[in-house]
Amino acid sequence: MNTLDQIAASLPGYQPQNLSVGTASAFLAALATPVSDVETVGIFDALDRVLAQDIISPISVPPHDNSAMDGYAFNSSGLPDSAPVVLQVVGSVLAGQAWQGALQAGQCLKIMTGAALPAGLDTVVPFEAVTLQGEHISFTPLRPGANRRRAGEDLLQGQAALRQGDRLTPAALGLLASLGLATVPVLRRLRVAYFSTGDEILSLGDAPRAGAVFDSNRYTVTGLLRQLGVEVLDLGVVRDDPAELQAALRSAAQQADAILTSGGMSAGDADHTRSMLGALGEVVFWQLAIKPGRPMAVARMAADLQAKTGSGADSTIASSYTNNSKPPAVLFGMPGNPVAVMVVFLALVRPALLQMMGCNAASSAAAPLLQARSVQAIRKRPGRTEYLRGIVEPAADGSLWVRLTGHQGSGMLSSMVQANGLLVLAEAQGDVAEGDTVNVMGLGA
Ligand code: AMP
Ligand code: MG
Repeated sequence: MNTLDQIAASLPGYQPQNLSVGTASAFLAALATPVSDVETVGIFDALDRVLAQDIISPISVPPHDNSAMDGYAFNSSGLPDSAPVVLQVVGSVLAGQAWQGALQAGQCLKIMTGAALPAGLDTVVPFEAVTLQGEHISFTPLRPGANRRRAGEDLLQGQAALRQGDRLTPAALGLLASLGLATVPVLRRLRVAYFSTGDEILSLGDAPRAGAVFDSNRYTVTGLLRQLGVEVLDLGVVRDDPAELQAALRSAAQQADAILTSGGMSAGDADHTRSMLGALGEVVFWQLAIKPGRPMAVARMAADLQAKTGSGADSTIASSYTNNSKPPAVLFGMPGNPVAVMVVFLALVRPALLQMMGCNAASSAAAPLLQARSVQAIRKRPGRTEYLRGIVEPAADGSLWVRLTGHQGSGMLSSMVQANGLLVLAEAQGDVAEGDTVNVMGLGA
């Protein structure tokens, strides 16, 4: 396992001050080790779980050639070229039935959508395309093979239907069911512990007091975590007190694969999280080239972590991991401001957690950014990535336009609620002029 220093040394241009979002992402990608324990779950319980192995299709889907329409099935070879074609209807076949028998030249069968095409029949003319006269139909000739679904056109037996690391979406669950699979091997859920820090932070139910605010980060962060389908360990609010922080970190490191915290990352007086982390584990502190959300810490904490206060934390920490049965937990120390914590989560923590969950590149890729034209001019200083809360709306001609929600203070959650997207203004970008096209990260589920 590489130490944090080794990871840093492998990244060209890495420096903890003014660290670009791209380099920070690369650092976290190098740190994020996927879970490997496998469990088998019923497919009803498998939504958002991550596949532990490729799923090879045991059957072809559909299993037989079948009709795509309600209509009449016939053999297209040997039909007269003359129009219209006239055929005698000699029977019918419903979905779920296997019609046995043989047709003579000039005969056809009434057939329903999804019914297996009897041997030798290759074409279906829909009801609405025929004229019925007694037991005969007549219709304009159509292409051989029309309205036929081929066996295996969805999936061929022996083909990989899904890949290891795919995250199971509703469509993937349906696909598994179409293969007749009732259970599926998945990776165990990632366990993520979260706590808020700060003497001024009240838990819901606490009596309000001057200078204090209710903990909102705990709800935004656990909500974001639940959307990932991870197991959330809620460790509540921890005061800016070294002993409490130590106890919370120790408990989190024993139980969790990842530890998320908010607050206490800036250089202020009461920022014990910072000093505590340095004393307990391997840690890097970053000033990100990002707005909002500059301060962040990333650490690795052994499950049996011992306070090294006084004696000095050092490189022995990394080598001691090999003696533990549980791998060290990765800690993401996020900023305290309510919008900053969400931005840092979405931009940096979420991709790392998806990788730790075992997602492959395709299933951990962020949704593509939208392109929208800015309703207004926006001041932007080159040199940092900025995330601005915006509302994207289509104009009458269908083109997308985006306007800012108003004040962009990093504590203003109300504007995060109003926003349906985050404008992502790249590091190198300068001012945006009215009508310029900008990238927007959707904030939908
Ligand atoms: P800090 O990073 O700890 O200095 O916090 C920055 C700002 O975010 C301060 O105004 C805090 O009161 C606020 N803050 C920190 N944690 C939370 C939280 N869990 N819920 C709401 N506001 C918070
Ligand atoms: Mg604080």
